[in-house]
Amino acid sequence: MTRKTNPSKSPRNIKKRVVKKTSKTVNKKGYSPLHPKKKIRANLAPATDPYISKEQLKDYTICTKCHIVYHLNRWFIDKNLYNALKNNRTIKKILCPACKKIKDNYAMGVVSIKGGFFFDHKEEILSLIKHEELRAMDTNPLERIMKKRKDKENYIITTTSEKLAQKIGRALHRAYKGEVRYSWSDNNKFVRVFWEREK
Ligand SMILES: [Zn+2]
Repeated sequence: MTRKTNPSKSPRNIKKRVVKKTSKTVNKKGYSPLHPKKKIRANLAPATDPYISKEQLKDYTICTKCHIVYHLNRWFIDKNLYNALKNNRTIKKILCPACKKIKDNYAMGVVSIKGGFFFDHKEEILSLIKHEELRAMDTNPLERIMKKRKDKENYIITTTSEKLAQKIGRALHRAYKGEVRYSWSDNNKFVRVFWEREK
């Protein structure tokens, strides 16, 4: 399998984005005023992700495709907030980094599953993988599965983040044992995860 690469997005061109930390961006305790029980965790990794803009996005920017909302330097899933903002003309409307990657087929992680065990337990394993995606999206809505397909003797899953591919590898190994292997690109921007179990 070959991976599409875009020469203009070579690691040399990626500069670390400076995010100004002000009292406005993250409140003292590190909890979002929108989700008081939820700790704010950065879901942007501009140093390693060419799809994260160097420019600061306007607060309350929304994604027209998946309806997530950018607020306090991160993306949130918040359907009510999206509905409240979507008809407001002053609100910036864009494709979020995850939707852009899906549109461009720009994967940052590939999970290759091999062996008879998968094909004998396909539904169950795919449901575990879906669960892992939903869990990841709960913390970071930019972590998504892009495509799933069969490729010769492997089953291939591509992801928008290298972290989600690793999480899927760990979850498969935890649940079903077998053998798992990770192979990172030099700049850690891209990971291949191999999981294999025969019977
Ligand atoms: Zn989106």
